[in-house]
Amino acid sequence: MTKILIAEDNAVNRELLRELLEMRGYTVVEACDGDEALRMIEQTQPDILLLDIGMPVLDGFAVVRKIRENPRLASLPVVAVTAYAMQGDREKILNSKFDGYLSKPVNVRSLAEELERLLGKRENRDSSPHPSHEGQLSGKTRAAGSGE
Ligand code: MN
Repeated sequence: MTKILIAEDNAVNRELLRELLEMRGYTVVEACDGDEALRMIEQTQPDILLLDIGMPVLDGFAVVRKIRENPRLASLPVVAVTAYAMQGDREKILNSKFDGYLSKPVNVRSLAEELERLLGKRENRDSSPHPSHEGQLSGKTRAAGSGE
């Protein structure tokens, strides 16, 4: 089962994200600051990290830098989640070592698309069967079944 770590200091935002993700069948683990986020990555081995930028102890920029510097963690997909509206912050995020970006309040569809994109990429890296090919096969099976 796909496990997602939410690193977010705001309890309401954390709870909202947890509910959205659990509704979609993901397993959720949580961290309340940047330091805890790094510990939780090591302890729980998530498949994706949703990382708030504005957090105490270590902010999101510091956390993603430490992840990329650590060979054990470096390949973890990290999505920046932030309410920062300033153009400079958006550029800073896009220029940092993030794999994706979501703005708050998090849009359900954007969240789903971002996760599917990153999980699909990971599956391709692991050289498992090609997702679109699998989709075509199951589509044909369903079509054949419905005709009988
Ligand atoms: Mn925050």
